[in-house]
Amino acid sequence: MSSIVLFGPPGAGKGTQATAIMEKTGLPQVSTGDMLRAALSKGTELGLEAKEYMEAGKLVPDELILLLIEERLKEKDAEKGVLFDGFPRTIPQAESLAKITQVSMVISIEVPDENIVERIVGRRMDPETGEIYHVKFKPAPSEIQDRLIQRKDDTEETVRSRLNAYHTQTAPLAGFYEELGILRRIDGNQDIVDVTNSIIDLLV
Ligand code: AMP
Repeated sequence: MSSIVLFGPPGAGKGTQATAIMEKTGLPQVSTGDMLRAALSKGTELGLEAKEYMEAGKLVPDELILLLIEERLKEKDAEKGVLFDGFPRTIPQAESLAKITQVSMVISIEVPDENIVERIVGRRMDPETGEIYHVKFKPAPSEIQDRLIQRKDDTEETVRSRLNAYHTQTAPLAGFYEELGILRRIDGNQDIVDVTNSIIDLLV
């Protein structure tokens, strides 16, 4: 069992690129953000506990995240490894992950801070397919425009705290994985297809 981690700041394009990597590797995507949003909309205890952190753009405590991950990795489709998206986000999460599964590659999608706000504030999602669009960089077809939704935490104010959490708590993980020799850096500030192609080159 060997897993891949998609790493990068909020709005780097991890979710968008996850689809291409899933197709190429067959690994299922495990997005802690998606799992937390699902828990929240179901109204589970964990979802309710996570809510205030998410809405404030802060990281949810490691214990809650690790419970989610442990449960998810017990599922049958995770047997051969998974594609982590948005996890791990702290050194303790990465240390715990190392005890439960082998990570073969960490793909770091790099985007400068000055581009992040525009990327996040213009982000929209199709609730029917889960497909992610952007008002400027990846406009949705006109027939589905009316049903698109915007994430509650995709506001300019919340992005600032999410970026702050990224720099203080998550960015140090790059050094952690670099030391293990498995960090691969990708320029995330190119066209979506060029980012995908650079990632696919790493996977062959
Ligand atoms: P994302 O969809 O990955 O941007 O995550 C949305 C929000 O969920 C984050 O701003 C955090 O509040 C929370 N979250 C997602 N994944 C994690 C994680 N691995 N550790 C802590 N908090 C997380």
